[in-house]
Amino acid sequence: MLALQKVRPAAGLEFRTLEEPAPQAGEVVVRVAFAGICGTDIHIAAWTPGYGAMESAMPVTLGHEFAGTIERVGPGVASDAVGTRVTARPSVTCRRCAACLAADEDNCNNRKGVGIARNGAFAALVRVPYRNCHTVPEGVDLEIAALTEPMTVCAEAVATADVRAGQAVLVMGPGFIGQGIALLARARGATVVVAGRDDQARLSTLAKAGFMHLIDTKETALEDALRHYGPFDAIIEAAGVPTLVNACLPFLNKRGNFTVVGIHPKPAEIDLTQLVRMHQQIRGSYRAPSQTWDEMLLFLQQNQQVMHGLISHQLSLQEALHGFKLAQERVASKVMLRLGAGL
Ligand SMILES: [Zn+2]
Ligand SMILES: [Zn+2]
Repeated sequence: MLALQKVRPAAGLEFRTLEEPAPQAGEVVVRVAFAGICGTDIHIAAWTPGYGAMESAMPVTLGHEFAGTIERVGPGVASDAVGTRVTARPSVTCRRCAACLAADEDNCNNRKGVGIARNGAFAALVRVPYRNCHTVPEGVDLEIAALTEPMTVCAEAVATADVRAGQAVLVMGPGFIGQGIALLARARGATVVVAGRDDQARLSTLAKAGFMHLIDTKETALEDALRHYGPFDAIIEAAGVPTLVNACLPFLNKRGNFTVVGIHPKPAEIDLTQLVRMHQQIRGSYRAPSQTWDEMLLFLQQNQQVMHGLISHQLSLQEALHGFKLAQERVASKVMLRLGAGL
């Protein structure tokens, strides 16, 4: 089968032909219907610093946001799982280390990410532990189900920021993660402002989803726009631009919180004295727990139409490199690769 792989610790990706995977004990093989290209994949393709640990897994197939149908089961998995439509948590834990044995799998020190440290879903078939699978509710398209992983990242950010009804929330960065955060913050009853720079395509995706308070700093100076819309009870940063942190903090309310979701290429400089006097908090948000996956599958079920609007491009696996280019140039909100026949 054709697979899009990272083969060496340098910029670039390669198509290779692989043997079909065989499920090991406790595992299933999923026939991938759709797999999304995410910011992490873009970083890995460009080989930005911070992914060096991947080197030992190369060559490795990318793709960690996906949905499909279970096609084969390994020893220990009931055969009636075959045919189940699933998406899967990409984080594979060892179940042997001290943290895993203490039921604290989030701190597993032998974690292997599907699509990062073991073969992922930019191929027709992907092998995953059955316990990582979440059943896709009836009526949810597999293309929409493939958005579950990034939506759990968004849900964790909104939970970390403790967004509540009636609050004013600023989301920095209109990429898919910023868009998902905006949707979930709005669903909690907050008034949401989203800002980007020279980002008309992705901001217009948000406009189509019903967001009215959108800032493009190519047209308006960020400070002027934030003075107009702010101050904010919470700011969620999903842009990965270090200088934006200190630029936004003056527009955060007293006791407000600033949640960081973006991956930053270098440290940010922050006026800490001002932070102290304003009694503000800076929080980091990353991977969501397992129960968030089922919550997001329900959210997707109830918001299928608006979610379809966030998928800006659907391409074949053979066209994937073009998809990477679109995502990198901020033309695309979400590029979805179509692998097999979606049910
Ligand atoms: Zn991702
Ligand atoms: Zn472990």
